[in-house]
Amino acid sequence: MKIGFIGLGHMGNPMCRNLLKHGHTLKVSDLVPELVKKLTDLGCEAASSPADCARGVQLVITMLPSSPHVRSVYAGDNGVLKGVAPNIPLIDSSTIDPHTSREVAWLAQAQGNVLVDAPVSGGVGGAEAGTLTFMVGGEARDFEAVKAVLSCMGKNIVHCGASGNGQVAKICNNLMLAIEMIATAEGMSLAVKLGMDPRVFAGIVNTSSGRCWSSDTYNPYPGVLENVPSSRHYTGGFGSDLMLKDLTLVTDAAKSARQPVMLGAIAQQLYQKHSVDGHGGLDFSSIILQYLRT
Ligand code: NAD
Repeated sequence: MKIGFIGLGHMGNPMCRNLLKHGHTLKVSDLVPELVKKLTDLGCEAASSPADCARGVQLVITMLPSSPHVRSVYAGDNGVLKGVAPNIPLIDSSTIDPHTSREVAWLAQAQGNVLVDAPVSGGVGGAEAGTLTFMVGGEARDFEAVKAVLSCMGKNIVHCGASGNGQVAKICNNLMLAIEMIATAEGMSLAVKLGMDPRVFAGIVNTSSGRCWSSDTYNPYPGVLENVPSSRHYTGGFGSDLMLKDLTLVTDAAKSARQPVMLGAIAQQLYQKHSVDGHGGLDFSSIILQYLRT
């Protein structure tokens, strides 16, 4: 297939490389010329705008920072919807708010194109290994139409229901992840302050009812697990600012749905403080520094 790919950053670049590995040809677009060059060096064609990127291709994929970028890349003056032919499927893999996702899908539909939302989990490591999870929102037949190409970049391709539901799954999962990470950080730091060895305590938790992914696979306390960000000064992994972004999407979505998210709001504020303290670039498990330094 000839695919238009827009947004060649941390995630987009390795996703493109996996599409190339599977024999697809790519027309690519990014605001940063160096990121475009990295892919034209591998044989991709450079596009002059999102509209140009969508012209003459059989599918368009976008991997952009946030909702305003997605809106302007699709619906702007030189946007995808200006260049794309009718019936060409569109996939947005950015993490954005479900409301914008549905609005842009509706604009696409009004001119004869299907847009599915397909945000991912798995991070840069998953993008490089081609093992991302894609959470897809759209009609069942449209999900079936894009499943094969998503399989070139991911391992689990899940249909979440109607348009926007991929975003819903993504942000609600990350809401739970942030809360369990903060709970683990709080419990671990208190246990140590009260005299316990962190490894002994983690061992107890991980065979008891406090166990969760953050305690047994990604423990935030330094030295408890090897090969996780807490054991390498919180480098690599999933950045605290990306978690803050997702939690802000959560609290905004909850506000528009008039649904309380008490712990989500506290989690959002904790990550906001963490970012203001200068730790936004550290892995999200570094939230434990908010406890270890007090
Ligand atoms: P990134 O900032 O590295 O890449 C985004 C790219 O989009 C940038 O290169 C930017 O120049 C480009 N861009 C912005 N506006 C553009 C425009 N008008 N035209 C063309 N290109 C444009 O971000 P990322 O880390 O690759 O993340 C992309 C998305 O994936 C985000 O929505 C993020 O929340 C989500 N996500 C990221 C991770 C992660 O670990 N990085 C994990 C899961 C989900």
